[in-house]
Amino acid sequence: MGKSIVLRNPVLVRWLERFANGTETAVFKKGMELYRNKRIWDYHASAKGIRASLEDRDSSFFQVTVRWDTPFASDRLRSDTTPDPAEMHVHCTCHNRRMPCEHVAAAVIYWVITIDRKEKRRNPRAVPDFSETDYQEKIEAFKARSASIPPSYAVFRPEHLKIRPDLQKKFTEISERVMEMMRD
Ligand SMILES: [Zn+2]
Repeated sequence: MGKSIVLRNPVLVRWLERFANGTETAVFKKGMELYRNKRIWDYHASAKGIRASLEDRDSSFFQVTVRWDTPFASDRLRSDTTPDPAEMHVHCTCHNRRMPCEHVAAAVIYWVITIDRKEKRRNPRAVPDFSETDYQEKIEAFKARSASIPPSYAVFRPEHLKIRPDLQKKFTEISERVMEMMRD
């Protein structure tokens, strides 16, 4: 419990949010648990839908079928015209009166995660990776810090030159000339 699903494709993130909104929270959570506990067997997916076999807590098996009228082609992942989760045709052998049931939710979560991973392999730069996001944050932090620190020529202290005292006079002259040029 508590671990969230990590998706990289923003279209899939929005799609799963829409699906979750149309599902009872407790049912969706149970579906997440089934997914995490690897209770999905015989999984088949195509652009038209999903077929999966799920093992519930008491070793009972249920067959899930999900079908959408508009094929969910992979090119839709970028155009954001994904089939409406509310218009999916769902069926489960648990015959729960309230659909989607936890088995359907688990199969849908599995499906979304699977295509998100495939999409990442096919088009790895479409969405920034965690390492890239991390890198971006470091750049931003560096920019913010360097913006608050004056440029090095402005903080130059000739008296800090102690290594070659014989060159100190020359360095001072050069640095003063540079500072004058920079100020203009
Ligand atoms: Zn079910």
